[in-house]
Amino acid sequence: MLLIASANGAVGMAAGWAILQADGTALDAVEAATRKVEDNPKDHSVGYGGYPNLLGEVELDASIMEGATLRAGAVGALRGFRHPISVARQVLEQLPHVLLVGEGAARFATELGMQPENLLTPPAEQAWRAGLAGRLPEEFRDAQGQIMERMLARATRLATDPERVAGTVNFIAQDAAGHIASAVSTSGWAWKYPGRLGDSPIIGAGNYADDRYGAAACTGWGELAIRASTARSVVMYLQHGYALEDACRAAFRDLGALGLPPEHCLMSLIALDRHGQHCAVSTAPGRTYVYQAQGMASHAELPRLVAEV
Ligand code: ASP
Repeated sequence: MLLIASANGAVGMAAGWAILQADGTALDAVEAATRKVEDNPKDHSVGYGGYPNLLGEVELDASIMEGATLRAGAVGALRGFRHPISVARQVLEQLPHVLLVGEGAARFATELGMQPENLLTPPAEQAWRAGLAGRLPEEFRDAQGQIMERMLARATRLATDPERVAGTVNFIAQDAAGHIASAVSTSGWAWKYPGRLGDSPIIGAGNYADDRYGAAACTGWGELAIRASTARSVVMYLQHGYALEDACRAAFRDLGALGLPPEHCLMSLIALDRHGQHCAVSTAPGRTYVYQAQGMASHAELPRLVAEV
């Protein structure tokens, strides 16, 4: 039995572990753990209190995957519901689909009986206003101070900064039966273009789990993980016989082909193999992750390996 998470997942570890300890499934554990992070208003990269898009709207992405069956569910650009991971779980359980976005995802959440609410907290709104202040020339705004529709693309390029992307929560669990599941939830890039999806809801990019080999889940610059299929690459390298750490390093080296200066490639991931070995890797030094294994009374924090692209 094992539960690992990005460092901001610490607030969800107890909820996930309680399920594993009661012989629950890895799938239930990662969903329950993720919900706690989505509830945390202090985490501005996930769920309620997440930073909004360019127009001040909180748009959430999440995905969940079951390694035993390769079933997956995901939602993208979901507005007005604080638990995208549970909507993603029900996509997995109830629909013949993998990914719902925007209005369709919100419609499904409503059909599930979830209550819509305003997710933009005063501190997140303040940060959004401050984040845009000074970055956008006056001519980008109309008389009411709103960014003009025809200026959105240019405003996105001026206002967002991939090097400031940091956050998103990752959980991977292995239950008592040996099954693996993974979950990812995020509010994505602060001040992103409305409708932008990152890697988190894209199965294979930000999230992948396969009982036969292992699982990986990413944080960092989502566009890069989409282009390089980073989470699936880790699992594919495991399938090809790489040891866990080598599989992660190989997936990071693949990012080098994307043509960016290495210092602009911000990527982190957590991973485990089917034997229960775990590790976490980042391009940035000083990052950590959390884990709990059998016999531990609570979770502990470990440093991430630093990998080059
Ligand atoms: N990967 C997320 C995204 O691109 C952001 C992050 O991890 O900070 O939406």
